[in-house]
Amino acid sequence: GATLGVMGGGQLGRMFIHAAQTMGYFTAVLDPDAASPAGRVSHHHIATDYLDPQGLAQLAGLCDAITTEFENVPAPALALLADSKPVSPAASAVAIAQDRAQEKAHFVRCGVPCAPYAVIDTPEQLAAVDEALLPGILKTTRLGYDGKGQARVATRAELASAWAAMKNVPCVLEKMLPLAAECSVIVARGADGQMVHLPIQRNLHRDGILAVTEVYAENMPAAQVNSALAAAKSIASGLQYVGVLCVEFFVLQDGSLVVNEIAPRPHNSGHASLDCCDVSQFELQVRTLAGLPLVQPRQHSPALMLNLLGDLWFVRSEQSTTPPWAEVLALPGAHLHLYGKATASKGRKMGHLTLTGPTVEAVRATALQAAALLGIDAF
Ligand code: ATP
Ligand code: MG
Ligand code: MG
Repeated sequence: GATLGVMGGGQLGRMFIHAAQTMGYFTAVLDPDAASPAGRVSHHHIATDYLDPQGLAQLAGLCDAITTEFENVPAPALALLADSKPVSPAASAVAIAQDRAQEKAHFVRCGVPCAPYAVIDTPEQLAAVDEALLPGILKTTRLGYDGKGQARVATRAELASAWAAMKNVPCVLEKMLPLAAECSVIVARGADGQMVHLPIQRNLHRDGILAVTEVYAENMPAAQVNSALAAAKSIASGLQYVGVLCVEFFVLQDGSLVVNEIAPRPHNSGHASLDCCDVSQFELQVRTLAGLPLVQPRQHSPALMLNLLGDLWFVRSEQSTTPPWAEVLALPGAHLHLYGKATASKGRKMGHLTLTGPTVEAVRATALQAAALLGIDAF
């Protein structure tokens, strides 16, 4: 049988492995952590550094096609793998998603509006920043996630000291926008250019980390949904993208839509697709990687996803204790996903819980019950 490989062994890789194995593939994971969530469920696990030539050669030797599960996989590693095996998404697309300045330049090229911004690589660029970008958010161009590598700045003086605190690494300054909501769209694009998408996802972040995603048609006006889908598709086509791409948007208080950032892989906000759609984001990843047909996914139930952060293991005491899963699983339409991480720590993504039901009201009601049982703030 054919073998599919993935760079990175986190929870996204683990759910990709599950989907690939369900469809009859053998799997291989490359992740330096010998106990990574994906490595532990994969047929093969190569525990070397991402840039180790021997590890990469071993992965290429085992696999018929290779993908990635995290944004910061070194693009040169993907480029090296691509010398001998099909790799999707391509290193060139991943490299753009890894760099906020290049990413925003791509949005501009595609004609999709993003927040007003300035690139800050030099003291001269810092000095020349337009006053109209304040108050703003200073973000490192590379390696940020879950709100890390960001500082909110109201004045030029705060901007200068925030940049100094970031050791003057390349950054972008974005204007702080008045958000009414946030949403994301996941598209899958095949090598032939065909695209399908998952239903629009409405996202609530807390402390820079995704907390709740709601997936139902009543989420947003149809015109907004359509413009988000069109924007996501033009971003994917403009990259000649092959694979699963997540596009995050801001909905502004005047109802307009602004693109925030992209992730070149399945995304936390797409996890409900495992339980509420007839094709999940991970099956889409397998299909694009293996060159299988793409069929437009159909949502069969309204759904709400709660992220399960390590904090929940400490709600009842300072010592780590297991959350009350039996009580949660007594709720109708509760789907528990735990990622097999050995230790919980605060802020760590340990799993997610998706609630499905016959109506939006039923889903919200059981989700509120689950949140109360787990000690998650209501939404
Ligand atoms: P992720 O884990 O999604 O990759 P990240 O670290 O890349 O997150 P962003 O998505 O850039 O961070 O920002 C995190 C959150 O901060 C956003 O979801 C939004 O709530 C808020 N935020 C970011 N940029 C802006 C902005 N320009 N105006 C208002 N709010 C913003
Ligand atoms: Mg990001
Ligand atoms: Mg984000």
